[in-house]
Amino acid sequence: MKKTKIVATLGPATCGYAVIRELMESGVNVFRLNFSHGDAAFFTGAIASINRARISTGLSAAILQDLQGPKIRVEKFEGKIQVKKGEILTIKDKMIKTSGVEKHIAVDYPGLYKYLKPGRKILINDGLVQLMVKEIRAHDILCAVTAGGDIEPRKGVNLPGANLPLSSITKKDRRDLIFGLKHGVDIISLSFVRSADDIKELKRLIKGKNRPLIIAKIEKPEALGDIPAILDESDGIMVARGDLAVEAGFDRIPAIQKDLVKKANEKGKIVIVATQMLESMTNNPFPERAEITDVYNAVLDGADALMLSGETSVGKYPVKTARVMADLIKKAEAEGSEVPGGPEVIKGRDIYKNAVSYAGAAMAKMIPSCEIAAKIADVSDVAYLSDYRPKKPVVACVTDRKLYQKLAIYHAIHPVLMKTASETNAAEFVRKNIRGAGNLVFLDLNAVSGQSARISVMKIGMAPNKNIREA
Ligand code: PEP
Repeated sequence: MKKTKIVATLGPATCGYAVIRELMESGVNVFRLNFSHGDAAFFTGAIASINRARISTGLSAAILQDLQGPKIRVEKFEGKIQVKKGEILTIKDKMIKTSGVEKHIAVDYPGLYKYLKPGRKILINDGLVQLMVKEIRAHDILCAVTAGGDIEPRKGVNLPGANLPLSSITKKDRRDLIFGLKHGVDIISLSFVRSADDIKELKRLIKGKNRPLIIAKIEKPEALGDIPAILDESDGIMVARGDLAVEAGFDRIPAIQKDLVKKANEKGKIVIVATQMLESMTNNPFPERAEITDVYNAVLDGADALMLSGETSVGKYPVKTARVMADLIKKAEAEGSEVPGGPEVIKGRDIYKNAVSYAGAAMAKMIPSCEIAAKIADVSDVAYLSDYRPKKPVVACVTDRKLYQKLAIYHAIHPVLMKTASETNAAEFVRKNIRGAGNLVFLDLNAVSGQSARISVMKIGMAPNKNIREA
């Protein structure tokens, strides 16, 4: 069983029940619905297929709704536009039907011309096409093409360094959020987070208890200056290397990735490493050597989860790609002498859960052939345990189906749905499913918790199902 989780983006290649089921069986733990693309019919169908596969496989899988955030995109048009270095491309407020005049596109931010000056860089499709503003003529932005390529509808547009008045949560995001909450998504990620205030605003929009987990996508240089506060406000972050490379400079990505993973680990928060992990497998059945090393190294860095984007949404080999990633993760976890053992002590928050989780993970590392199980009533019961990076996956005993799905993203947490989350049932599960288990550490982080007292219980057993003793 691997400990590092896989997030797979669904798309036209993977929205049906059969392929989703295969992806789950190949090691995918979280399905990402990218709300920058697709419509309600697509998402409703994909969610129905995930629900069916959850039941038929008996496996836990979380649904992650990825909100587009304030991203500017190329407006829709038929086909694609090819631009060459040295040509002029005009960005207009909307697409117009002309025959054979100058090449033009429109973006979904009318009035963009007001915020640009000659000399400003415009990058399209993760920087594959690069433009330089030459002149603003009325509402038109005349650009020189500095790097040519194909422009397709809905491709992203980045304006590094430009300060546009964009609200962090757009009208579209608000509509999509209502859809996601209605359909019971487990995790919500927000794109282009600039500060912790963006996450606070998102949380204000989500009412009620048991809200989905919140992941801040780090892809703007501004966010890098507010990471501690962003981590405090959210359940985790995503190192969104695609846009981050365009916005911050591609040569900064390796160091930023390592730094963000470390900071998230230190605070006991989730960290997902995303984009182009096995990109070449979008079209080829085998990965590049550099991609193999990238996946392996992200595990050694200490990521909770690794993400697949185009590889599974539009790729030719989605299931094979998931299998390759799962195998590489297992190899890195087995061989990597540098796999971090977790932070010495995670600072802040719930001192009781923190201390018991630390002790439980440490005890399971010291005792031979030892498994670890825990009675989980809330995500806060696993957050520390996961980040103390136990040697083996933790059997997380849960009775609530929603919680069971949500836990799928946590590193080293293996959720098991039970009628009663007792140590006897945990021991029975370990005995039946884990070969060679000799001992069991069982944690109940909320054995007694009232206003004036809180008692956590840690029990160890010499053989699962027998002699479980209180420690
Ligand atoms: C990224 O830019 O790396 C990313 C994950 O964002 P998206 O796929 O939504 O563009």
